[in-house]
Amino acid sequence: MAEPSGKKILIPHSRPYLGEEEVKSAGEVIRSGHIAQGERVERFEKEFCRGLGLGRGAALSSGTAALYLSLSAMGVKPDDEVIIPSYVCTAVLHAVRRCGASPVLADVDPRTGNMDPSDAERRVSKRTRAMIVPHMFGLPADMDRLLELDIPVIEDCAQAVGSTWRGKPVGALGVASAYSFYATKVMTTGEGGMAVSGSRQLVDKIIDIRDYDKKEQDLHRFNFKMTDIQAGLGLVQISRLEFFIKRRREIAGIYTSAFAPLGLVLPPVDAGHIYFRYIIGLSGADDPEKWIQELKNKGIRCERPVFKPLHRYLGITGYPGTEKMYKRFISIPVYPALGQDQIDCVVQAVIEMRQKGKRI
Ligand SMILES: *Cc1c(COP(=O)(O)O)cnc(C)c1O
Repeated sequence: MAEPSGKKILIPHSRPYLGEEEVKSAGEVIRSGHIAQGERVERFEKEFCRGLGLGRGAALSSGTAALYLSLSAMGVKPDDEVIIPSYVCTAVLHAVRRCGASPVLADVDPRTGNMDPSDAERRVSKRTRAMIVPHMFGLPADMDRLLELDIPVIEDCAQAVGSTWRGKPVGALGVASAYSFYATKVMTTGEGGMAVSGSRQLVDKIIDIRDYDKKEQDLHRFNFKMTDIQAGLGLVQISRLEFFIKRRREIAGIYTSAFAPLGLVLPPVDAGHIYFRYIIGLSGADDPEKWIQELKNKGIRCERPVFKPLHRYLGITGYPGTEKMYKRFISIPVYPALGQDQIDCVVQAVIEMRQKGKRI
C-alpha cells in the first residue's frame, strides 16, 4: 500500500496491540458507572501478580510512580544514594531525585546493555541505600551477582513483563519491582504502572501513599492512582500476554536467522529474554543516526535504544560500556502488532543497509 505521495507506509518503531475485547472491557466499565480506582484495579493487581508468579502488587499511574513510591516506601530520603545504570531512560533518574536522594550512575555491560555488577560494586558507598536494576530490552540482568552486593534492589521491569532469570520470574528477585503499562510497553493500559513486592508491609505502605484521601496528612501525599477503565484494558492485555511474548520471540527468531550472516552484533541468546526491543550493533564505521535516517527513508522507523545516556545529561564521564552501546546500537521494530509483510520488509531493509555498507 502506498500513500498518495508514493512514499512507502511507515512501519512504526512500536505500536500497541489492541482489539475489540479492550473496547468491550473499557465500555463495560463506563456503563457500570464506576470508573475511578475500584474493584477492577484490585482484580488487575491480583491477576497480574498471580499470572507472573509475583508477590503482591499496587497499581499506579505510571512506571515512574512505581519506582518513586517503591523508593519512598523503602525509606529512601535526602542524603541517601541510589545506584542506577547510565544506560536507561530519565524516568529512573527522576524517581530517585523526587525522593531528594542522589542518583549514582553505574556503567553497563556493552554485551547486554544491563548494569555491570563490577562497576556497580565500585560505586557503593556508606550512603548507598538502594539500587535500581532495569532488565533492559526484556533481557534479564545478572541478578545473582547484583544481589551479592547486598544493597536492596528495586527491579525495573518496565521492559521485562514475563522475562525470567535462570527460570525464575524477574520482579520477584529484589525487594520490590516496578512495571510500566505505557502505550508502547509489553502490555498496556494507556498510561499506568505497578509496584510489586514479596513484602506485604512494603506494598501496604505503597497503597497508603498512592493516595491522599481520608488519611493522616503527615506526609507529602499525592495522587498516583490507576482508574478502573485502565484496569479494564489491563485485564484483557493480561489474557493476551502469553501470545505477546510468544510472538515477540518468534519475530526475534526470524531476525536472528536472517541477520546472522551480516556481521552485526545481535541480542544475546537467553531463554528468559522477551525481546521488548530487538537491538542491533553496527560495525565501528557505521553511524546509527545515518542508519535510522536511511531506514526511515525505506519506511521503517528505528530509534536509539536509549535516547541519551544519563551521564551525558549530567555532563560526567567514565562510562565506556554505555558509550559503546550509544554509539553502536539501533532498535528496530519488534512487537506483536507487526504483520508478516512488515517483518519481511524490516529484514530486507537491514540486509540492504548491510550490503550497501560493505560496498563503500
Ligand atoms: C518506560 C520505562 C519507565 C517509565 O515508565 P512510565 O510508565 O513511562 O512512567 C521506567 N523505566 C524503564 C526501563 C522504562 O522502559
